[in-house]
Amino acid sequence: MTDFRYLIIGGGMTADAAAHAIRAADSAGSIGIISSDPHPPYNRPPLSKGLWKGESEDKVWRNTETVGVDLRLGRRATAIDPRKKTVTDDRGTVVTYDKLLLATGGTPRRLPLHSEQIIYYRTYDDYRRLRALANENLKFLVLGGGFIGSEVAAALRMVGRDVTMLIPEDGIGARVFPADLSRFLVDYYREQGVDVRTGEGLASLQQSAGKVIVHTTHGKQIPVDVIVAGLGIQPNVDLAEQAGLRVDNGVVVDDMLRTSAPDVFAAGDVANFYNPALGTRMRVEHEDNANSMGAAAGSSMAGTGAPYTHLPFFYSDLFQLGYEAVGELDPRLEVDSDWKEPFREGVVYYLKDGRVRGVLLWNTWGQVDNARALIGKAGHLVAGG
Ligand SMILES: Cc1cc2nc3c(=O)[nH]c(=O)nc-3n(C[C@H](O)[C@H](O)[C@H](O)COP(=O)(O)OP(=O)(O)OC[C@H]3O[C@@H](n4cnc5c(N)ncnc54)[C@H](O)[C@@H]3O)c2cc1C
Repeated sequence: MTDFRYLIIGGGMTADAAAHAIRAADSAGSIGIISSDPHPPYNRPPLSKGLWKGESEDKVWRNTETVGVDLRLGRRATAIDPRKKTVTDDRGTVVTYDKLLLATGGTPRRLPLHSEQIIYYRTYDDYRRLRALANENLKFLVLGGGFIGSEVAAALRMVGRDVTMLIPEDGIGARVFPADLSRFLVDYYREQGVDVRTGEGLASLQQSAGKVIVHTTHGKQIPVDVIVAGLGIQPNVDLAEQAGLRVDNGVVVDDMLRTSAPDVFAAGDVANFYNPALGTRMRVEHEDNANSMGAAAGSSMAGTGAPYTHLPFFYSDLFQLGYEAVGELDPRLEVDSDWKEPFREGVVYYLKDGRVRGVLLWNTWGQVDNARALIGKAGHLVAGG
């Protein structure tokens, strides 16, 4: 049986950040990674952005192996015994750990139809599949107007494909952006040639003559070749639940990223943590959190950690537009938009009781730290400053 000083379940960006931080703090301790992905850790954001604009695939790899890690790829951890400090994988291999990190991320929500023509866009292999299909003159339908839906629709359109978006809400990014910006994005996507249908959801799916027929809530039928479903993810908490760890919208961790079981930590998309700036528990599905929380968990596991108080930022690209954002972007809060040029460049503030909860930096760069400093305070940046 292999004994690891440090064992990480999951092979995403969080796992990689943790492995690097562990190695920086402990040059000799053995590190194992068990990942169900057949590929070593890679950056996910380029899969829906840079790679469609000509960025090299070579750049996505995180080179985790360079820090001396036993990478066990294409294997799923199936059980944790926190008392014996063992982990079993789907090949029946049992390993032990001194410190364990759960970096299991999330799984895309699924549609009721099982079909090769539906892609749940999450992995490098999903990218490769969609990229190959995008070389053919096929009809694509993107379900959902959130992060993945809006980015994948733009990516497919940028390579000249015929794309329809089906969005149950009234606009693109409607759960994050104020209504006027969300509606502007619908017009903007239409100008780019995307057939955007808002306020229209999916009623049912049917397969017929090589096509998938999408029946919409407006009673329409759209025959397509490929569906990309951007329906959000659910945190992979099954292992944590099986091991008896506290789970509540993710694996619950304290400020040192410890779970309710001794020597078991969690970080990244799967972890539910307390953020002091916002004064609330949260689970964040973004790159900055994966990188910074993964690193913080690695340090904590190696005994050199500090409380995780970081307020992560996030970002996205939508054709030629782009943004960075910090805090709580909930359009149901009081919203104050400060446009330099309407919907093209400016800053949007999300406030509660006169205090800033979130800041959207729309085509406004280099302001993330200033925006972060505003959270919890009453105040404004200079738009575009
Ligand atoms: C296409 C795409 C584009 C994105 N773009 C942006 C962006 O522009 N900006 C931004 O801020 N964020 C973006 N994100 C989100 C960001 O990539 C995620 O927040 C980040 O990848 C989370 O990392 P993670 O390691 O916590 O989880 P994941 O990336 O989900 O990795 C979890 C890993 O655990 C493995 N695993 C799960 N269960 C088991 C098990 N039982 N045994 C073994 N292995 C297991 C999985 O195979 C996977 O390798 C994007 C995400 C995607 C998919």
